[in-house]
Amino acid sequence: MRIGIVASEAAPFAKTGGLADVTGALPKTLFRLGHEPFLVMPLYRAVRESNVPLREVGRVRVPIRRVGVGARVFEGRIPGTEALAFFIGYDGYYDRPGLYGDNGAGYPDNCERFAFLSRAAIEVFRLLDVKPDVVHLHDWQTALVAPYLRILYKDDSALSSAGVVLTIHNMAYQGVFWHLDMETIGIDWSYFTWKYFEYWGNINLLKAGIVFADVINTVSPAYAREIETPAAGHGLEGALRDRDDALHGVVNGIDDAVWNPAADPHLPKTYGPEDFSGKAACKRALQRQVGLPQRKAPVLGVVSRFAEQKGLDLVAAALPRLFDRGPVQCVILGDGDDGIAAMLRDVAARYPARLSVTDGYDERLAHRIIAGADMVLVPSRFEPCGLTQLYGLKYGTIPVVRRTGGLADTVIDCTPANLDAGKATGFVFENPTPDALTRCIERALALFRDRRSWERLIQIAMTRDWSWERSTRCYLSLYAEAMDARKRA
Ligand code: ADP
Repeated sequence: MRIGIVASEAAPFAKTGGLADVTGALPKTLFRLGHEPFLVMPLYRAVRESNVPLREVGRVRVPIRRVGVGARVFEGRIPGTEALAFFIGYDGYYDRPGLYGDNGAGYPDNCERFAFLSRAAIEVFRLLDVKPDVVHLHDWQTALVAPYLRILYKDDSALSSAGVVLTIHNMAYQGVFWHLDMETIGIDWSYFTWKYFEYWGNINLLKAGIVFADVINTVSPAYAREIETPAAGHGLEGALRDRDDALHGVVNGIDDAVWNPAADPHLPKTYGPEDFSGKAACKRALQRQVGLPQRKAPVLGVVSRFAEQKGLDLVAAALPRLFDRGPVQCVILGDGDDGIAAMLRDVAARYPARLSVTDGYDERLAHRIIAGADMVLVPSRFEPCGLTQLYGLKYGTIPVVRRTGGLADTVIDCTPANLDAGKATGFVFENPTPDALTRCIERALALFRDRRSWERLIQIAMTRDWSWERSTRCYLSLYAEAMDARKRA
């Protein structure tokens, strides 16, 4: 299958978040499985400065505000594969310090920059005569490709037969711009209605993508259901419910080259599911590194952005109760909101031999916590997919999570029946309250004292498959569904 992945970022070329991990890993895995993926993205300053080998292969010209803007097209390779990556070079838009903005503010011409990317990507297909079977779009920045194909290129038989899949990584970002940007994107004003582009008097690019894509997905099945409700739909729940039959969830995979306890260069000792004795050495090293006494006490770990979403206020409220009741320790690494950091540091000041809080971004410590802790806490209020619980599973560090989004899909609660059946992988609670979190951690601590059961739980957790190969196979079935939908249309 030939798949054109159009994205505003992809690892290792340019990255601001999890989106780049997906658009970086997916083409590599597709290629390994024998498909023909290719990537189209902007030639940001960061890409040019990374010195990836590029070769100019032509030029495209697209109308923006009715004026033709030309771009140079460069070709490179997706690292470790023969798969092609195409970069749209137009310095007026992309030779800037940031991808979407800098100093905390989005660039004022973002609608124009990404409308240009979307239209230029289609022109790249034509320029190079690559006819994708499927075009895979990501978030609002490239969602416009869907209406462009269906409205402006509907008579191009090579392109109009391509299925379109739109992946939504976070409903909170929708690409909402003022109505006059209809002129910028070059779509006829007749589409400025609530059925297509219009959204409370503005235009909404993600909404247009949802309306015109053949298949839509988000990054977990539970989040896919949640975004059809006002609580998580950010105003697009109605548009999503209208496309209910086409809406799916695919959990992201783990990058095995980075997160693998059997070959992790950050660890003092590596280990695998057959023999996880090395985990004890990782625990001692972690305790030593963060200045906690090297006891056999259970260690809770947290690696997280400090943000309201992540529920760390619940952790701050639960920890004193747990510390007062038993010999438990906790290691926290995070960065972001200063208020959350201060709240956690307050608890650490009261319990210095129990709690370590590191404020900052530290990849190495993140790996050492995920390996060295006994449990990883992810009490998020909402979580589209979540990666730390997946890393916890792979490293035998049992996740304690709230039942929401991707956490609900990837962690099976350790009831006695689930443990007997070999299905349990962690501990799950419902309500975002300190009480519920405390009780859930206490359930985990009770099982931790039963060594044999705990080791069985670790073994089950470590052997679950959350690989990119698994996610990619799910995407392949969505691609097939999009192609079918096109044939029927
Ligand atoms: P989100 O994308 O909402 O922050 P995820 O769980 O999907 O949450 O991904 C978070 C990623 O960022 C994980 O790989 C986690 O290890 C990493 N991470 C978060 N905070 C830090 C930090 N302070 N230092 C190092 N890595 C971090």
